Amino acid sequence: MASVLVVEDDQFVRSALIRHLTDASHTVRSVGTALEALREVAHHRFDVVILDLGLPDLDGSEALKMLRGITDVPVIIATARDDEAEIVRLLNAGADDYLTKPFSVEHLSARMAAVLRRSRAAGDGPPSGVLRVGGLTIDPLRRSAELDGAVLDLTRREFDLLAFLAGRPGVVVARRELLAEVWQQSYGDDQTIDVHLSWLRRKLGETAANPRYLHTLRGVGVKLEPPA
Ligand code: CA
Repeated sequence: MASVLVVEDDQFVRSALIRHLTDASHTVRSVGTALEALREVAHHRFDVVILDLGLPDLDGSEALKMLRGITDVPVIIATARDDEAEIVRLLNAGADDYLTKPFSVEHLSARMAAVLRRSRAAGDGPPSGVLRVGGLTIDPLRRSAELDGAVLDLTRREFDLLAFLAGRPGVVVARRELLAEVWQQSYGDDQTIDVHLSWLRRKLGETAANPRYLHTLRGVGVKLEPPA
């Protein structure tokens, strides 16, 4: 059960969303404009915001930017435009996920569950303050990372992996724990982790044979620590 803010100006879509979410035992508040949405998030705590991109007062990306200025609540974009470039831009601008209209209730529920799982896992994780390990600086809120002052271009998963390890510098994290915390899976194959670790390594400018930050302990797990 989650507290949801629905931002949608189409009365028909809005009522349908409210009905489905309420049926799924979520608590729902709803507004029809971006400015009302900003007021809502400033005064109430939500677990997730479903944001329509076509609002009467502000462009969706503008609305998202303003929302991000005051809250880090997970935001799922609902868009009628199936424009990949724009969706990528919005995900980079801080949206957590997106749905292309028309979407099914099942689809919405699945996306919501994933977003909530991620944000709850993050809530149990390290504090949201900036993490520093050696020359690495990781800002979980802005989802940005730098190495020796240079911005790292990381995928979402690489960032999550790096941030999770950097929150526990010097601690060996078991693969099982990484799967559970970063991938939110209770099981899976080690290869997934290895592949992402090797991509991350490459971006950090190191190799498994010559590690600087990322150290793999065969059969045990991985740890991140500043270079000696
Ligand atoms: Ca609309």
